Amino acid sequence: MLPRSFQYFAPTTLEEAVSLLKEHRGDVKVLAGGMSLIPLMKLRLASPGCVVDINRVEGLDHVEESDDGKALLIGSLTTHHALESSPLVKRRVPLLSEAAGLIGDSQVRNLGTIGGALAHSDPSGDWGATILALRGELTVLGSGGERSIPIDDFLLDTFTTALDEGELITRVSVPIPPDRGSGGAYLKLERKAGDFATAGVAVQLALAETDEGDRCEYAGIGLTALGPKNLRASKAEALLVGKRMTKDAISEAASAAAEECAPTDDPLRGSAKYKREMAGLFTRRALELAVTRARKQGGRVQR
Ligand SMILES: Cc1cc2nc3c(=O)[nH]c(=O)nc-3n(C[C@H](O)[C@H](O)[C@H](O)COP(=O)(O)OP(=O)(O)OC[C@H]3O[C@@H](n4cnc5c(N)ncnc54)[C@H](O)[C@@H]3O)c2cc1C
Repeated sequence: MLPRSFQYFAPTTLEEAVSLLKEHRGDVKVLAGGMSLIPLMKLRLASPGCVVDINRVEGLDHVEESDDGKALLIGSLTTHHALESSPLVKRRVPLLSEAAGLIGDSQVRNLGTIGGALAHSDPSGDWGATILALRGELTVLGSGGERSIPIDDFLLDTFTTALDEGELITRVSVPIPPDRGSGGAYLKLERKAGDFATAGVAVQLALAETDEGDRCEYAGIGLTALGPKNLRASKAEALLVGKRMTKDAISEAASAAAEECAPTDDPLRGSAKYKREMAGLFTRRALELAVTRARKQGGRVQR
């Protein structure tokens, strides 16, 4: 099917883009990689009368460290591939590279963007869970100015975010985990290579070395395709923080994640019961992998 006819604008500045969004409010969509929007328009599940293509807007495609070295600043137009392959990202927040490399296929990763994926808020999308695990924040711009929205407040429901129609995402900021003693892992169960997740788990940990063994100082766990939106496994996180990373502690947290997720039956990817079991299994495996990586990472912080 062909999309309905629409007006097309390709602004070159953020001001122009925001002013177009304001002018056409109620009947406008931002176009980034087009990997989700174009299929929706072809199926007429989205039929905007106006499309604002932000690909020529300067300054939205970058990854850099903040001046204080505490955060990674990612322009909203940064593609999945750029995040998968960036040496800076691999060095400072390797969880981002790992998650990016598991999104779709290389065509999707070459065009799809982190901003588009988060704005789309597909519960099966991999970015929401990853940014939840890292406790990232989005910067959005509208005609009323700029505001920051923590990821927990941004993802509201299936395909629904806190973004106002006149706003666009300009940046995603992610705290950089400590140099020593931190490890992350993104594990995704998929029916075949390049598919959306049947279940996915993003984990970020920071460990400190104590006389009794490793103690968890930070735990972030995000879940993919296990509820109406990407979910934070907050009970599982709370069970880990301050505890030693023993087998029992990991199993207890994995069971909590399985309990707190909210999967649904679907004929393609399996029953809710199966997905819940996979949530527990993949949380346990992701935690174990993150612990192994944290321990390998040049010695932990001494406490
Ligand atoms: C075959 C296929 C397989 C895929 N597999 C996966 C997968 O395994 N995992 C996964 O996570 N995703 C997957 N995707 C989705 C893919 O990651 C998309 O890139 C992503 O969902 C949307 O990003 P985009 O840049 O293409 O956005 P677009 O399609 O251009 O836009 C998507 C939505 O976001 C809005 N938008 C875009 N940019 C902004 C912005 N800066 N500010 C405000 N609103 C904005 C648009 O208006 C639209 O509503 C797949 C897609 C395809 C086609």
